[in-house]
Amino acid sequence: MRPLSKPAPASLPPGIGDAWLPAQRLESALIDTVGSYCAFCEMSIASGGAPQSKRTGPLQKTPRDLDGWDDLLPVCCYCYAQRENSTPVSTARYLWPDVDATFTLTATSPFVYALTTVSVVVTSGEAAAARGTNDVVLVKANPSSPDFARAQATLALYQLNTPGYDAASNTLTLSDSPQFQDQRLDLRTQAWARAQAFLDLLKEAAPYGDAVTTALMRQATMAAQAQGFWSVWMTAFWARYPDVNTIESLFVLTRTRQDYIITGYQSLEKTPSEPLARGLPGRPQPPPPGGAWTIFTGTAADRLAYPTP
Ligand SMILES: [Zn+2]
Repeated sequence: MRPLSKPAPASLPPGIGDAWLPAQRLESALIDTVGSYCAFCEMSIASGGAPQSKRTGPLQKTPRDLDGWDDLLPVCCYCYAQRENSTPVSTARYLWPDVDATFTLTATSPFVYALTTVSVVVTSGEAAAARGTNDVVLVKANPSSPDFARAQATLALYQLNTPGYDAASNTLTLSDSPQFQDQRLDLRTQAWARAQAFLDLLKEAAPYGDAVTTALMRQATMAAQAQGFWSVWMTAFWARYPDVNTIESLFVLTRTRQDYIITGYQSLEKTPSEPLARGLPGRPQPPPPGGAWTIFTGTAADRLAYPTP
């Protein structure tokens, strides 16, 4: 779960807890700040997402129920649905991507991602009673993390492996009925497969020199940006390239904006006349001295950790 840096944009009215902002403006501001990805499952929400409250889930339509900017995160339709009818929660019991170090490449990362063989049972529809196994990429809370309990709570709150997965029996229960299916597990597994395909290509390209390798790596970054599932790409590439500079140049930071699609507030020169402008060509500003753009807008690079060599 990508750790997010979510400072309140300067152009948002102060004290949004006191005044109801149209959801569309909130969503634009959130996406400009942390990127067009679900804060929990990390899928791309370029085709649609919604702001949700960490405390209450769906936003209530009265100003007094809105806790403010720090309480909001953008979510996909599947993560949204997990809390659609839930009661407010005590946020201290959960791990949150905008304040906690939710993912690192060390052995104590709170969340870990791994290709796992699960039992599959189909309960209804044409293929009812079919059984088998399937390889899917599960996200799990890591018992070696000091934040294990809170990670486990967040995993359960949003059912990040879909409601059909039962961890105790390692079984995925599916319906073959013609209804909307929760796509998160499939899409996460597809991202893993695509990352592996890039790693295979990089291996094949090795004899052709650095220029080919560099070009392929830029394409891998763009594929990850388009698809989302940042933690999956980080995990897969770290297994082959356990090198901080390589990983940061692929998925975290860039010191120039050349060749990367840089989005959000970091690429726009904000003026009072264009509050919350989004999708405008803008005039990109160079990173601050010694600084860098984040390739995935809003990644909290300062909360990432790498194994000490
Ligand atoms: Zn989601």
